[in-house]
Amino acid sequence: MIVWGTRSKTCNEQMVQGPVCPHCNTSQFISFGVLRYFHIYWIPMFLIGRDVLLECSHCKRTMSAKELPMELAQKVRAGCFTKRNVLPMFTGLLLIAAVIGVSTVGVAIEDRNTDSYIAAPAVNDIYVVDFDKVFYDVDPDYQYGAMRVTAIEGDQLALQISEMVYNKAEGVVEDIDSKKALSDSYYSEEPIYFDSEFITALKAEGAIHVVKRH
Ligand SMILES: [Zn+2]
Repeated sequence: MIVWGTRSKTCNEQMVQGPVCPHCNTSQFISFGVLRYFHIYWIPMFLIGRDVLLECSHCKRTMSAKELPMELAQKVRAGCFTKRNVLPMFTGLLLIAAVIGVSTVGVAIEDRNTDSYIAAPAVNDIYVVDFDKVFYDVDPDYQYGAMRVTAIEGDQLALQISEMVYNKAEGVVEDIDSKKALSDSYYSEEPIYFDSEFITALKAEGAIHVVKRH
């Protein structure tokens, strides 16, 4: 369950001599700004409204700032709706923007690494592969696996094929990140041989999703 909704925060309370309270005839008020914001798990996502209110110091009823002299309303607004008070209301949006920015940069770096690893392979490179685009008779429900470079001779690559297969490339990536895919038992013993031109073609066709090097 996601907790979300609206909340408000008050700021810049000041004692003011305002208009006469229609309920108790007092003319002492506390003026304050109100920032209303949308939150998810109490993290402010964005501002949805701001207002200046008056609270009668005697009967505690609130009135709109429309009843305040213009100059005083301006002063409360200026004191409350500062960048320092308003910007934190957008914390969630800023966080989301930051996460998207970081992951986009991460993907760009990974793509560049993959291209350079394909161009200059090294022993123990692990390719995340869509087997359906490489072999015949692949179970389409479990078509993603790993190929590990075990030897390079000239432009011939010896590769071991993983025993584990997944329905998503992420399954293979997780095994690499958790180091499961670094152990010998993860692969069938007998290697297959591809030349580097074929590997480049597999990458171009999208059969090789990513190359991981440790
Ligand atoms: Zn009152």
